[in-house]
Amino acid sequence: MKRLVLATHNKHKAEELQLLLDGTDIEILTLDSFPQVGDIEEDHDTLQGNALKKARHVLQLTSLPSLADDTGLEVFSLNGEPGVYSARYAGPNATYADNVKKLLLKMNGMPAHSRGAQFRSVLAFVTPEGFERVVEGVCNGEIIDHPRGTGGFGYDPVFLPSGHRQTFAEMSMDVKNTLSHRAKALHGIKGVLLSYFNP
Ligand code: IMP
Repeated sequence: MKRLVLATHNKHKAEELQLLLDGTDIEILTLDSFPQVGDIEEDHDTLQGNALKKARHVLQLTSLPSLADDTGLEVFSLNGEPGVYSARYAGPNATYADNVKKLLLKMNGMPAHSRGAQFRSVLAFVTPEGFERVVEGVCNGEIIDHPRGTGGFGYDPVFLPSGHRQTFAEMSMDVKNTLSHRAKALHGIKGVLLSYFNP
């Protein structure tokens, strides 16, 4: 059986990977099928550290090849903040709106040339044979000074990808999916998965 566990309960992430692996015989399971795994604390200070920690933990408890991700928004003039803390930038129970508000306050008055940022997604794939591989996808852009658009999630309303006039929250999901950090990371991991499962 060609099965892998995606270290998430997020159905949207599972669907995204399923779509990418359409036409292959790789079956994707999520943590919904493994209640024994429980919550995994993301306590590393790098995206790669968290992704590897999650993938190794799931492998250990399921004995199946495991894939885990971690994503962050990195503002260059803030030394990469919010980075690995993107989900809880404004505190442990922060909403997306709270995080965006904190970011805009920190960047208030910053000139255009200091507003450069990137989304970075890291995917870690680990297998029972001891094979480990990490790939990342990056999307460059800038942080605008007022939220625009109602689509997407997280920092989408303030992220203007390079070469585009619409924020991630203003563009259709189809367009976002052609240029996003996550799409790039997923494409990168596809080859790794295919060569592992179909050597
Ligand atoms: P996760 O690692 O996918 O859970 O992402 C961590 C945090 O990064 C999320 O809670 C969001 O705040 C932010 N984030 C990740 N991907 C995106 C995106 O595509 N758009 C906007 N924000 C994102």
